[in-house]
This record gives sequence, C-alpha cells and structure tokens, in this order.
Amino acid sequence: MKSIQKPIVIVGAGFAGMTFALNLKKLNPSIPIIVVDSETNFIFKPLMYEVLSKEIRSWEATPKFANIFSDVGITFLRNCLTKISFKENILEFSDDLKLSYQYLVICTGSIPNSFLIKGVDENCYFFNDFHDLEELNSFLQKSQETASHNKLFIVGGGPSGIELACKIKDIFVDKFEINVVEKSNEILNKNKIFNREQAEKALEKRKIKVLLNSTVKEVSETKITISSEVGITSLDKDLVIWTAGVKPNLSYLETDEITKKFGRILVNKNLQVESYKNCFAIGDISVIEGMEDLPITAQVAMQEGNHLANNLQLLIQGKDPSPFEFQDNGEMISLGIGEASISGLGVTLSGKLAFEARRLIYAAKLPDITESLKSASSWIFQKKSIFKKFLKKDNSD
Ligand SMILES: Cc1cc2nc3c(=O)[nH]c(=O)nc-3n(C[C@H](O)[C@H](O)[C@H](O)COP(=O)(O)OP(=O)(O)OC[C@H]3O[C@@H](n4cnc5c(N)ncnc54)[C@H](O)[C@@H]3O)c2cc1C
Repeated sequence: MKSIQKPIVIVGAGFAGMTFALNLKKLNPSIPIIVVDSETNFIFKPLMYEVLSKEIRSWEATPKFANIFSDVGITFLRNCLTKISFKENILEFSDDLKLSYQYLVICTGSIPNSFLIKGVDENCYFFNDFHDLEELNSFLQKSQETASHNKLFIVGGGPSGIELACKIKDIFVDKFEINVVEKSNEILNKNKIFNREQAEKALEKRKIKVLLNSTVKEVSETKITISSEVGITSLDKDLVIWTAGVKPNLSYLETDEITKKFGRILVNKNLQVESYKNCFAIGDISVIEGMEDLPITAQVAMQEGNHLANNLQLLIQGKDPSPFEFQDNGEMISLGIGEASISGLGVTLSGKLAFEARRLIYAAKLPDITESLKSASSWIFQKKSIFKKFLKKDNSD
C-alpha cells in the first residue's frame, strides 16, 4: 500500500464529486479527502421542476454540503477554483488560497450554452442551477398579477425544455401561452422512444405548441426571432427560457493545457487525464476516449464517481485501475404535476404511477448522496413496497 502524503482534492461536489467522495471514504476511511465547491448546498437538479411546482420544498432538494461531509469525516471548503498548476500539483482559489494535492478529481459540471446568439445572455432565463430557479420563479410569480396568456417561449426540446413546459402549464394553467422551439425535426431526439411518445401526448393534452425545425436567431427585450421553413419571423414575447444546450464549466483551465474533445476534458477509460496521471475528470466536464456518445446526465456522473472511487483505491494499493463501463439503467422524465414517464431495463411506465416511481427511485438513490435528504423525504418511502421491483433493478448503478 502506497502512503498518501497530501490529500485527495475534489473540486465540484455535484453528482460526480459527491458520489466519488462518499464512496472512496467508505472504501478507505482513513484517507484524507478535501472537497471544495463554490456553493454551500448540493442541488439535486432532476428535482428542480418539483421545487418550482412546490411539490417538494426547496431545502429537500438542496441539502448543505457541510452537513453531508462532516457526518462522514470529509473536510469541506467553500471556495471557487480559479487555476490549476498541473506540473506543481497546486490549485488556486478566488480568495488567493493555494492547495496542493496528491490526487486531483475535477468535476465542475456544466453551464448554459447560449452559442453566442445575440441577446440570449441578456434577455433569457435559464434553468441550470438554484439561482436560475429562484430568478425564474420570482418572474413567474410576478406574472401572476398581470393579464393571462403571456407569451412564453422555451428554447430547446430536450428533457429540460419539455419537463419545464409541462410543469409551468400545470402550475399556471392559462397564464402563459407556451411555445417550445426546437431546431431538429422532433422533440427529445436523444431520448427513449417510449418517453418521447408520452411527452408528445403530454404536450398535446396541455395545448403546448411545438415549433420544430426552428432556430432562434436573436432575442431582444420584447421579441424572439426564429428562422424556420417559412422564413425568418419576429414574434412578441413576454418570457424566453433557454434550455437549448450546456457547455462544460472550465473557466479555470488555461487554453490547450490539457487535451479536450468537444470542449470537454478528454480522459482515458480509467477516467484519468492522460498527460497528468494523478488527475481525473468526471461528470459533465469530461469525455471518455472511445465513449464519446455517453449522455451528459447525473446517471453517468454518478457511475463515473463510483467507478473512480474503486479505481483510486486500487491505485493507492499499487494495483492497476480498471476501465469504466456504462450501464444504461433507463431514463425518467417528469411530465407535469403528478405525471411522469419511465423507460429502461425492460420496463415502461407512464402517468401517475410513473410519477410516484420516479420520486421513489430518486429517494432510493439519495442515501448514496445524503442521509439528511432521505429523512426529509421519508414520506416517499411509505409506498416503497409497491415499487420493490423497480428499486431492485435501478439500484445497480
Ligand atoms: C434542470 C435539470 C434537470 C436534470 N434532470 C436530470 C435527470 O432527470 N436525470 C439525469 O440523469 N440528469 C439530469 N440532469 C443532468 C444532471 O444534473 C447533470 O448531468 C449532473 O448534475 C452532472 O453532474 P456533475 O457532478 O458533473 O456536475 P454538477 O452536478 O453540476 O456539479 C458541479 C459542481 O461543481 C461546482 N463548481 C463549479 N465550478 C466550480 C469552481 N470553479 N470551483 C468550485 N466548485 C465549482 C458547482 O457548484 C457544483 O456543485 C438535469 C440537469 C438539469 C439542469
């Protein structure tokens, strides 16, 4: 067994970083681990829609890092990474703190990508983190006081756009006339067919308009300009929510310092940065050589976190690490208040039962992430027996 002189430092305590830290601590309780995050709270992003609709309370989906980590003997620092000196193994933070590491795990997630389209950054709302959620919520609440049929455009027909559209329609009923703008010829084009069909039904039932083959060219204070088969049209808008894409959050990296692919850090199958073998990148910020098609999801981030914990323990023991393999455990999307769609592991389920199963499956995963959230959501467990079959299958990641 090699001895660890300096700590293992993890920057970013989202799905990837949190899973990695907690699993490694379980495997090796005496190992010194420091977790750094620029925020004070973890965000369970798949439940942000339920926070918006008040189906769950915000604190249930956002437990404090300090509580989670102090319970298991991991040091947590709130700080923002600004620079990595890979050759010297030193990290620099926004308050001038410097930290040296023996092993480094970076997992700083994604930020919205506006693709440099004119007016998007200035005139759109986003739905990527808790600050976005609060801003959007406050705008929506204020709109309650104005006339009905405010014109709302949601750009992006992926899961975020569709889930948001259904939820907002159910919360505010006729307050908003909702349009989803999608540049390809179908919504949810990277998702399971069953979920896509359920989503199409959910949108139709709610009279949400979908503009396919439509690309946003500009967003101003009052208008959204869309290019489609019929030409370029400028439409009045009250609100635009941008969910059309994300990019890796890598502001602390200097250009060409390490190899990237599609803007993400390229890692080998052991999740290692090839040029600096004591550095690892997992979650949304990285792409694995030969596995470029993996989706950018919490499911992948958690499996990578779990796998890397095992690999690092092997490395510390002087053994060879093993290559990462992804297990597709299916996907779940919420489709309005009290409804969802689930497809995977040979099971498809939609409607109210799927909604309860989705919450239960997340609750079953939460103990890996935090005990405090598990107890906060204890009401979900009351129905556990009904969904034993699902939990058994889904717990494998
Ligand atoms: C609304 C929404 C719904 C989603 N629903 C699903 C779903 O249903 N299923 C699914 O599988 N995936 C879903 N996703 C995607 C999923 O949330 C991400 O793929 C996942 O969070 C990626 O994990 P990560 O650890 O890479 O990044 P994150 O979970 O985003 O964590 C990154 C962490 O890094 C921290 N950080 C960033 N920069 C710095 C810095 N410079 N210094 C220090 N700390 C920093 C951040 O504060 C954050 O805590 C959803 C995403 C969104 C936005």
